[in-house]
Amino acid sequence: MIDLHCDTIFSLWKESGAYTLADNPFSISAVRLRDGGVRGQCFALFTPMHSGVPALHSGKSPWQIVNELHDVFVRETAEAGIPMMDSVSGLSDGNVHAILTTEEGGAIEGDISRLEILREWGVRIFGLTWNWENELGYPNSRDPEIMGKGLKEKGIEAVEECGRLGIIVDVSHLSDGGFMDVARYSKLPFVATHSDCRSVTSASRNLTDEDLRILADHGGVAGLNLCPAFLSDDDPATEAEAESRISDMVRHVMHAYRTAGDEVLAIGTDFDGIGGRLEIPSPDRMHLLRDALASAGMKQSVLDKMWDGNAERVLLEAEEVFR
Ligand SMILES: [Zn+2]
Repeated sequence: MIDLHCDTIFSLWKESGAYTLADNPFSISAVRLRDGGVRGQCFALFTPMHSGVPALHSGKSPWQIVNELHDVFVRETAEAGIPMMDSVSGLSDGNVHAILTTEEGGAIEGDISRLEILREWGVRIFGLTWNWENELGYPNSRDPEIMGKGLKEKGIEAVEECGRLGIIVDVSHLSDGGFMDVARYSKLPFVATHSDCRSVTSASRNLTDEDLRILADHGGVAGLNLCPAFLSDDDPATEAEAESRISDMVRHVMHAYRTAGDEVLAIGTDFDGIGGRLEIPSPDRMHLLRDALASAGMKQSVLDKMWDGNAERVLLEAEEVFR
């Protein structure tokens, strides 16, 4: 399996030293990645810009925070014995590999030259926004005016620079207008690392059918997110009671497959960034989803593409520029 998104590094950073990647109570640990047969785990450096925990970033700039997150990534993957993916071909050596990604383009503070530093760190995927406006663009929103806004000038520059550096642009969290601009300006395939289908569940974080087809036309993928709020329109009293059900995952995957074909399917669990009652709480249980999809009629060849083939294809295409 290749998982395009998790927030485990952010969780480790937030708990500052209480846990390690090797051993923790989170969804993702070295053991659970190995037990799950994960070949490539994307670890996002998620830079909180205005989070509900101001003490975390008081006095620190976004660029300082993303540097701290990167230090955590380097230390924790090394101590857990998880090598960073050196080249996509290396994913086939039987080990778990860490793939470095970022979430919240505000981390570079509008300084496009810092994308080159991210590339030197080994960042393969760059998320333009989280759920706030930043120097690059606007987030997904229930407000149609915000949702319709395209990329800012610097956002277009960032997309072009990512293309030059071989970094894949991630449109998860982005506004609909921003999505269309990425489609217009990205020379590489682009991805939605962790987004589900809006015509199945109305969340603004999800992708429209048109988005799915455009992604497929550009050779990109959409990673299935296991977050309860994106999988169903349930309205639980508290986040802790929200349910992430395998039956809902199957509905989303089958819809994406029928809408945009088998080349767009991928996995982006969002582990350690999502709460609730998770029927699949960790990578070592992903086989339950695979079995459910097979029971729903999905062919093994399609499941192989969704589990890692498609993500590997996109990573490889960008790597030809990256190297
Ligand atoms: Zn996210």
